[in-house]
Amino acid sequence: MFDVLRFIETKRDRRKHDKGDIEAFVTDALTGQVREYHVAAWLMAVYLNGMEEDELLSFTSALAESGKRVSFPKGLNCIDKHSTGGVGDKTSMVLVPLVASCGVPVAKLSGRGLGFTGGTVDKLESIPGFRVDMSLADFSDQVERIGCAIAGHSHDLAPAEALFYELRDVTSTVQSVPLICSSIVSKKIAGGASGFVFDVKYGSGALMESIQDAEVLAKSLVDVSDKLGFPSSALITSMEQPLGRWVGNSMEVFESMEVLRGGGPEDTVDLCLDLAGEMIFQGGRSDSPDSGRAMARNALDSGAGLRKFADLVKEQGGTEEVISHPERYLKHGPMVHEVKAEMPGFIHSVDTKSVGEAVRRIGGGRMNREDQVDPGAAIEIMAGIGDSVTVGQPLMRLYCNDRSLADSGVPYVTEAFSIREELPEVPKLVQERIGR
Ligand code: URA
Repeated sequence: MFDVLRFIETKRDRRKHDKGDIEAFVTDALTGQVREYHVAAWLMAVYLNGMEEDELLSFTSALAESGKRVSFPKGLNCIDKHSTGGVGDKTSMVLVPLVASCGVPVAKLSGRGLGFTGGTVDKLESIPGFRVDMSLADFSDQVERIGCAIAGHSHDLAPAEALFYELRDVTSTVQSVPLICSSIVSKKIAGGASGFVFDVKYGSGALMESIQDAEVLAKSLVDVSDKLGFPSSALITSMEQPLGRWVGNSMEVFESMEVLRGGGPEDTVDLCLDLAGEMIFQGGRSDSPDSGRAMARNALDSGAGLRKFADLVKEQGGTEEVISHPERYLKHGPMVHEVKAEMPGFIHSVDTKSVGEAVRRIGGGRMNREDQVDPGAAIEIMAGIGDSVTVGQPLMRLYCNDRSLADSGVPYVTEAFSIREELPEVPKLVQERIGR
């Protein structure tokens, strides 16, 4: 008979759980037999004392198996990609069609944002008519027909993960590697893919601030996925400054389409190609990440990635004209503020978290779960680390449709850029690869 108090004491006293107890705890938490205060106490014990590898594998599996699992027809081996999140991170909108156009099916379940800016599904909803709510059967069917789909998370998948995550959020236990790892990997497993690529970000706008912490998380994600039978790799990438020129819902879709058209900012293109190379390799279509990268480059140059994006928009009910005339549909609001350089010198650092917070405050993200996002709330980033600037040069512009929100965003960005006389070291975008 499962005894929840003994279970909590085991972790409190740094002893090891067995698989059966972990499974009973997860099941009973979901049915309410184990109370939220029990879960909260156990989460804090894990936060303080960690988990051993086999506990982590059992816990991740138990979360993944707590609900339904997306299934694809035999032989359809999908790859999924997960980013630990960052400011201006728009890579999913490029990668899903790009990798699919190279013959690797991609089934992407994405969240709505509660923190910085919207999530991928919020961004895609800037395209009039684009539907992100679909049944699991329709999701799987679309991937089978056109090779890709992007949908919002379903409550039917890994419901225990959602319960644990909500409690972590209110008990200061989010920042724990085993809890983050099990949360991410369980959702990926329930999403039905057969392999994963993780983009683990570090820096001022990331979940993990230091490279060392990002490395620990990346190793854990790859290790747990591999041991549970899902071949994976991870890139550790910089979030020391926002990715690309635009942060905000509509404009991130616009910028993603620029990349698919063969243009777009260099950092965004490079990161998308590196991640696409990993996904194509994990999907078995290339013999190395580098040759996968070359295939993705060809698909950008030939327009195959953009054509696949057009298929995705059409299938999910979006206005097809957005492909030929994105400027008619993907717009930013009027400019409400400009940040200018107050001294000459080099951009030394960017407070990326504050840029993300500013976009959220001007309507681009949510303060509460039920808030609507403003597709036109955006920040244009006009200088990056290492750039030389002169006094009065514009560094950043804020745009939004609800001017009354401008004042709450502006204080976050007035000091977001630090300028110094000496040239700083520019952080490498991709720091490290982890995986076979
Ligand atoms: N993202 C997740 O999905 N889970 C976490 O625990 C943290 C970030």
